[in-house]
Amino acid sequence: MNLVLMGLPGAGKGTQAEKIIAEYNIPQISTGDMFRQAIANKTSLGLKAKSYMDEGELVPDEVTNGIVKERLAESDTKDGFLLDGFPRTLDQAKALDDMLQDLDKKLDAVIEIQVPEEVLVDRLSGRFICRNCGATYHKIFNPPKVEGTCDRCGGHDFYQRDDDKPETVRNRIKVNVKNSEPILTHYDKKGLLRSIDGNREIDEVFTEIQQILAK
Ligand SMILES: [Zn+2]
Repeated sequence: MNLVLMGLPGAGKGTQAEKIIAEYNIPQISTGDMFRQAIANKTSLGLKAKSYMDEGELVPDEVTNGIVKERLAESDTKDGFLLDGFPRTLDQAKALDDMLQDLDKKLDAVIEIQVPEEVLVDRLSGRFICRNCGATYHKIFNPPKVEGTCDRCGGHDFYQRDDDKPETVRNRIKVNVKNSEPILTHYDKKGLLRSIDGNREIDEVFTEIQQILAK
């Protein structure tokens, strides 16, 4: 089972990825892990990637694509893989088509976990922090026992990090939507796209993924 997993930040990709790799016994291939591994193994592409990262520059596509291709050629992917965080651009998606062809593999499905943008904003922007003791809370997932009062120190003064503010989160999601749309269209044209309603319980989402993959 050769899969790509897509979804906006906060859509629950990580949770579903864990379930998919356990159920189908395939490795999860995420860009971050791949970079760390290539750098640790001091492969020539890994060292090249590191030189860009050390300079604080974006790793160019040709280096990233090379690392993905080396990873997909490893023996543990013979029964499948779950790609997560790649492709991030349409160019990378096209490069993935080419590398899979070279490796004599093909994608079985691209799973997109769909969650309305405003739900994602609520999920991702709910975090706030006690200014007095630093305890962190989430307005949906982990609110203080008494509203407006810190469980740990009894303080009443809370703040949000800039990254957690709704307008920052909303912008991050918009950038992601813009980048992922051409990729989703690309896979839809190939008949590979399977979009799933991710605004439900974790197990319901996973059940639908299993049903889709059974076809
Ligand atoms: Zn506190």
